[in-house]
Parts: sequence; structure tokens; C-alpha cells
Amino acid sequence: MAEDRGPRPTNFIREIIERDLAEGKHKTVVTRFPPEPNGYLHIGHAKAICLNFGIARDYGGRCHLRFDDTNPAKEDVEYEESIKRDVRWLGFDWGEHLYYASDYYEKLYQYALRLIRIGKAFVCDLSPEEIRLYRGTLTEPGRESPYRNRSVEENLDLFQRMRAGEFEEGSRVLRARIDMAHPNLNMRDPVVYRIRRERHHRTGNEWCIYPMYDFAHCLSDSIEGITHSLCTLEFEDHRPLYDWFLDVLEVECHPRQIEFARLDLTYTVMSKRKLLQLVEEGIVAGWDDPRMPTLSGLRRRGYTPEAIREFCDRIGLARKRGAVADVAYLEHILREDLNKRAPRAMAVLRPLKLVLDDYPEGKVEEFEAENNPEDPSAGTRKVPFSREVYIERGDFMEDPPKKFFRLAPGREVRLKHAYLVTCTEVEKDPDTGEILAVHCTHDPESRGGSPKDGRRVKGTLHWVSAAHAVQGEARLYGRLFTKENPLDVEEGKEFTHYLDPESLVVLQGCMLEPSLAEAAPGSRFQFLRQGYFCVDPDSRPGRPVFNLTVPLKDSWAKIQKKGG
Ligand code: ATP
Ligand code: MG
Repeated sequence: MAEDRGPRPTNFIREIIERDLAEGKHKTVVTRFPPEPNGYLHIGHAKAICLNFGIARDYGGRCHLRFDDTNPAKEDVEYEESIKRDVRWLGFDWGEHLYYASDYYEKLYQYALRLIRIGKAFVCDLSPEEIRLYRGTLTEPGRESPYRNRSVEENLDLFQRMRAGEFEEGSRVLRARIDMAHPNLNMRDPVVYRIRRERHHRTGNEWCIYPMYDFAHCLSDSIEGITHSLCTLEFEDHRPLYDWFLDVLEVECHPRQIEFARLDLTYTVMSKRKLLQLVEEGIVAGWDDPRMPTLSGLRRRGYTPEAIREFCDRIGLARKRGAVADVAYLEHILREDLNKRAPRAMAVLRPLKLVLDDYPEGKVEEFEAENNPEDPSAGTRKVPFSREVYIERGDFMEDPPKKFFRLAPGREVRLKHAYLVTCTEVEKDPDTGEILAVHCTHDPESRGGSPKDGRRVKGTLHWVSAAHAVQGEARLYGRLFTKENPLDVEEGKEFTHYLDPESLVVLQGCMLEPSLAEAAPGSRFQFLRQGYFCVDPDSRPGRPVFNLTVPLKDSWAKIQKKGG
């Protein structure tokens, strides 16, 4: 289980649970996280996971992982495996409490038979289209199905034959018999079972009828002894039905459904259908593309589970529709976390050669560099230095504007941890004018980066010794969309219209300090002056690939300062 960092901000659900425990309504709190295995988990799911597992942990209860696999067509074991991996990665553990709604098919079928026997369900021969037409609207009551008053015997017979596979898909359904004039449309004789001639990834061809979500979900909760069934707001209108099934079936355990506002995040989409579209159309490299809001994407991008949990805690829990969370806030929390734990390193992403004309050829010095100024226990490492080093192309300008404090002809800057150097000459391609190298002299008295006379230099540059550099690739990721809410589309456009073509920029030939050569996939670094980077699984020995996790510049901190 994720480590306990002390009391978490309370919220209305925790208050309800504390009251229930104080009143002795329950001795143990039992929650569940019920993903449908039809896609990868995203950061919205993380909110539900942190809530459900966090409550179980904090109140000494338990949280079940239940695959809500009642839709045979779209589900897959690949998704199940990814969901388990992601929940574990977030830091939670369901122990032995792994369940599948499909394991309850027989029980659910028996419950359906009971519904029929007590006159609360009937087999309906209307077509799906007719059922829709009979349903009425928010302002008009629905009409009763002509099959509504079939006898219990006839219903039992027909339903058993539905199960036996005697009827065509779509020809009949089982419906609850509630009230066609109910103001809540979900209560107008909702469908309970439908015929689907589709192979289920776990039960194979054993079933050709499948329960609807509203029926399967409340009963799965009840079967598992869930005390608090926490779900997102779109299920608020389903709660009367949730309670109706459990009431008329007189089950022993009647969990309490409580709804909360779902998490939405700026500059991304969270619907699994839309994420699947991005994957299937090849717009991203896969579910774990580092630009995706999926947990596997965020992991590959370099996000830490700690930062995601902290974010979920800090954004709090709204009872009603909450504000859309700002991705800059998530990034801010991630920086806070990485700042404390990511070792520093020097990497030149767009290299320009700098030659120290007055430094002996073949000489190598090693400079001591701290691994993390925020964490002295992280220690130091040795960084080799020689006559030729790479600096960032953007750190040199031949004709600099006023506020440019980096290297320019005649200017002195500090090479971090090494020497003060002064630019003496620019070497250019005579034909194209392209800058090939800059030449400098160094102040031997400034070894380690501090001059003897204490003179001030404004610019400090990172660098990598050319003779020792490891070449690597950097994948600079940005936000996938240019629009804060990509679903707010202009007429005739699709959300994909707002994809940012520069959300991925790949740089080859980056020059990295030698300590990065063997960095293990998944490890995270702060590249000085640039940002946090994470080693991608595509790395090969001696050929690392780094993903930009998040740049150093914190737009959230700036917003906060301005806004006061
Ligand atoms: P879809 O994208 O198809 O609507 P879903 O996101 O609801 O599906 P599920 O697998 O049914 O996917 O979700 C599992 C659980 O995660 C549900 O209890 C759901 O309420 C919760 N959940 C899903 N999205 C969010 C979100 N954005 N914020 C908070 N909780 C969420
Ligand atoms: Mg759902």
C-alpha cells in the first residue's frame, strides 16, 4: 500500500464514512474500484483509485479490484493486465480481493429469475428502436410495452430459452417492471438482460445473454459486501435503480452509492473511446505514448506515482461538478517531487562545439559535481573536462540583444563546476555562414567555477566534454492539444483538429555526460537548466533515449504569484 503521509484533507465522503463507523453501521469499510477492461487507465481513474484504496487504507478496511466485464465485445486480457500493473504502480494493493463481474453471471441469472418470480421483470419483444420510442421523454411519460403483462410462467419460460440460445440477438430482452411514467427515465422499465452472440474473453461461449450495467453493478457490490460504492456523478440518476434492484430482491447487503465529481484535466481528453481513437488512428505511438493521460503514458513520461497521488489528494473531492483541473498544477506538483529526488546531470540537447585554445590538448580534469543540491545525501560525482566541450547552441549568440547574459564574442561566462571562459573567436562555414564552433580562453585561476578575484559573471552554462560525451536521443514532449478543452469543438471540426503538431520533437545527437550512458530505463534526472527527463525503454546500451518529463519553467508557480 502507498505509504501513509499522515492525515489527508478530509472530504464529504470521508465524513459520511466516519459517521457510519461512529454510529456502528459498519465495522469495516469495504470499497471497490470497478474498471471496465476496455482500455487503459488514465489519470481520472487515478482519482477514483486513490479515493477508494485510500479510504480502505485509512479506515483499516479493504478495497476490491473488480473487473466490470459485462460487455463481451470490447474487452480484453491485455487491458486487464495493464490495469493491474497500473494500480500496483500507483502504490495500491487489492491483496486477495480481485474479482470479476463475469464470475457472478450465474448468481446474477438467479437474481433475474427471482425478479421474474416476484413479478418485477418481464421478457419484452419490442425492438431496441421501439423500446426507445416507448420510453417517452423528460417531459412526457412513456408507454407500457404490450408484453409487460405476460404471466410469470411465460416470462420464466422465455427467459430460460433466451439463456439457452433459442432467440436471435436483438429479438428479446428482459426488462424490469417499474413505472413507465417515472420522472427518472432510468426507472422506465429498464433493460436488465440482452442477447449478445459474442464470445466473452473469460467465459467464452458459455453465455449468450449478458446483464446490463445497472443490474450487474449493484448486485456485484452486494455480493462482495461493499459498504460504500463510490462512483462518478453520471451515475447519480442511476442511484434510484441501484437501490430499487437491491430493495425488491431483498438482498442482505445493501451498499450505499455515493457520487463525486469526475476529474477532468486541461489540454487533454479522458474518454476511453477518444483515447482508443488516438491509438487506433496512429496519432500517438500507443496507449503508453508519453503524451497520453493514461497512467502508462505518464509513467513512461517520467511521472512518479507519488506526484499523482499527491495531486489527487490536493485537488480534493467535489460533491457536484468540480472545476477542470489545470495540467499546470499537476506539473507543478510533479516538479516539487522530482526536485527532491532526481539526480542532476549535464546534457547538451542541441550541441555547439566550444574549443579552449589555451587548454592543453589531451589533458583531462575531473570536476566534482553535486548530484542534488536539495539533497546532500545524494552525494557527488566526477565530471570529466577537456579542451573541447559542447555547449547548447542557444547559449551562444554572435550578435546578442541587451538581456542576453550567455556567451557572445568578448563575453565571459562560467562553465558550471569548471572554469570561467571568454569567447575570442567564432568559426564559421565560409559558404553558408553557419557557426561551426566558438573559441575561448579560460582563466586557470577559476578552477571549479569561482574566480580568485571574486569578479562576477552573469551567465553559467552547462557543458559536456566532447571526448567523453555519450550520444543519445531526446524526445521533447509537450501537451497533446493546443486547446484547453479539445472537446469544445467548432462546427464541422473534430477534437483531433486541435492536436499540437509540435507535441513531440525528436533530437538526435544530443551530447550527454558519461554518467548517463548506463542509466536504467525509468530512471529520472534533472538536466541542468532544462528540465526533468526520464530514460525511455527504447534505450539501448550506450545509446540512451530520454523523454522530457516536464521543463523546469513552472507556469503554475507564475500564475499563483500573479494571481496572489
Ligand atoms: P468511459 O471512458 O468509457 O466512460 P469510464 O471512464 O467510466 O469509461 P470505467 O472503467 O467504467 O471507465 O471506470 C472505472 C471507475 O473509474 C469508475 O468507478 C469511474 O467512476 C471511475 N472514473 C472514470 N473516469 C473518472 C474520472 N475522470 N474521474 C474520476 N473517476 C473516474
Ligand atoms: Mg464506466
